[in-house]
Amino acid sequence: MSERRRLYRTHALILRRRDHRDADRILTVFTPNYGKLELIAKGVRKTTSRKAGHLELFGHTSLLVAQARTWDIITEAVNVNSFTALRSDLERIGMAGYLCELVDCFTESDDENQPLWDLILAALHELDDLASPVSPLLLQHWFELHLLSLTGFQPQLFHCLACDAELTPVTNFIHLAEGGVYCPACAPSGGQVEPIEADVLKVLRFWQSRPWSVARQVAVRPHILQRAGNLLYRYLLTVLERQLKSVDFLRRLQHMPRSVPSPHPARSPETGAPQDTASQNPLNEESPRHAHS
Ligand SMILES: [Zn+2]
Repeated sequence: MSERRRLYRTHALILRRRDHRDADRILTVFTPNYGKLELIAKGVRKTTSRKAGHLELFGHTSLLVAQARTWDIITEAVNVNSFTALRSDLERIGMAGYLCELVDCFTESDDENQPLWDLILAALHELDDLASPVSPLLLQHWFELHLLSLTGFQPQLFHCLACDAELTPVTNFIHLAEGGVYCPACAPSGGQVEPIEADVLKVLRFWQSRPWSVARQVAVRPHILQRAGNLLYRYLLTVLERQLKSVDFLRRLQHMPRSVPSPHPARSPETGAPQDTASQNPLNEESPRHAHS
């Protein structure tokens, strides 16, 4: 936790807003040095307010804040980046809102987390680049894994939860509640674990261990993207439910569009045989992707 002064300047990302009294608004913001804060913007709903245009949802803004007893008071707000391009695309607006809600759910007040600040800013910049050929879903899943790592919920995807042996490219067994994977020899019986294909594990490990500059260049086959996204979604639900919070968010999460339905059959189209998961490359490195339109 950082020491704040009576009057302090901070960069901030607006995560959430709610109306307060006749003309005020309470803002939940995420900052690089002070973590999450609840601040009050007084008179901001009056038509004459000069601050209003600088306090949009998921806008990056520079604030001058005065310490006060209940909520610190925003005395000055200047836009740094309002990500206007992404606001022209409904899917990207939904995605930006979802990423901001994840940050909100996984952070506590006054919990400094500069790497998480860098993560969410990088994600919003990527979404704001409408010319980028990168699928927003790829960004979403990469972001989810890195957010989990930065907030202490990193799933263990490289070594067996029981024997600690390095996992091999066979079908292993994931335990969502325990946040990791068992090798076939150690997998407990019963309904707690489920098989995870080698290709899906490979993609999750790739995203988890690579920076965005690398992950963004590698397209993933649609059905693998879908299965990896589905597992991640259920892992996020498991973590959030254990935290016994964010019930509203969980409800909204269940209505979020997930990965695209698979246009490809699970079997190899050439031979009709089940795909050899150990030898196939789920990362579609050779196929160029089309620009998102
Ligand atoms: Zn094992």
